[in-house]
Amino acid sequence: MTAMVKAEGVHKSFGAAHILKGIDLEVAPREVFCLIGPSGSGKSTFLRCINHLEQINAGRLYVDGDLVGYRQKGDRLYELKDSEVALQRRDIGMVFQRFNLFPHMTALENVMEAPIQVKGEARAVARARAERLLDRVGLSDKAKNYPSQLSGGQQQRVAIARALAMEPKLMLFDEPTSALDPELVGDVLDVMRGLAEDGMTMIVVTHEMGFAREVGDALVFMDDGVVVESGHPRDVLTNPQHDRTKSFLSKVL
Ligand code: ADP
Ligand code: MG
Repeated sequence: MTAMVKAEGVHKSFGAAHILKGIDLEVAPREVFCLIGPSGSGKSTFLRCINHLEQINAGRLYVDGDLVGYRQKGDRLYELKDSEVALQRRDIGMVFQRFNLFPHMTALENVMEAPIQVKGEARAVARARAERLLDRVGLSDKAKNYPSQLSGGQQQRVAIARALAMEPKLMLFDEPTSALDPELVGDVLDVMRGLAEDGMTMIVVTHEMGFAREVGDALVFMDDGVVVESGHPRDVLTNPQHDRTKSFLSKVL
């Protein structure tokens, strides 16, 4: 079975700052893969490399068997053209801590936008899907609301629906609940739980250890640009092997 994401010795630097120091990991199709670690350890950078928002400096990164950003011929790698990178990126949905909805569009229009603009889809088709997706995230009754008329949790659920509208094969979540008031976190996690039950492959950077334990299939603890420890969430969370993991967990649990 082809891994949905495979990282082999991935390095990333910004100038002299060496941020990712040889990341090796594999995410299987349909897996909920949780990524935890202290602030500044490189979690967001790693997600951005998967999505080719950042280019890696060494190693190999594959999504669904395809090299991210490159084509291989024999031993040589050739950079993909921007249009080819855009095609790769289409298949990957990303949800950020900040929801970044288009403020001048309603919830429904936000969800319709990418399929129309990027895929040239007919409005009626995009609308029907957007209505379905808003229903799925529990916001049918907010379709005509503008982002400013929605709570943070509702905006984040629209952002998830918007990412799903492109029918991605992989969803990346970068601390999707960190900016939310505590009472709004549950609704967003419930939507993510539903996605997981439907078999979506997801990489989730989160501090929600309850979610990781209950929904996660795999958990990686990253610190200072390396994978310190990985395993089943229950094992890593209840029986961490490394001091750095223990120390981190003692602060967040
Ligand atoms: P995390 O998501 O685990 O908190 P990040 O991946 O955001 O960590 O950041 C890891 C390190 O990389 C930080 O020290 C951050 O300042 C640095 N960094 C991230 N993006 C850039 C960038 N575009 N230019 C320079 N440094 C960056
Ligand atoms: Mg981050």
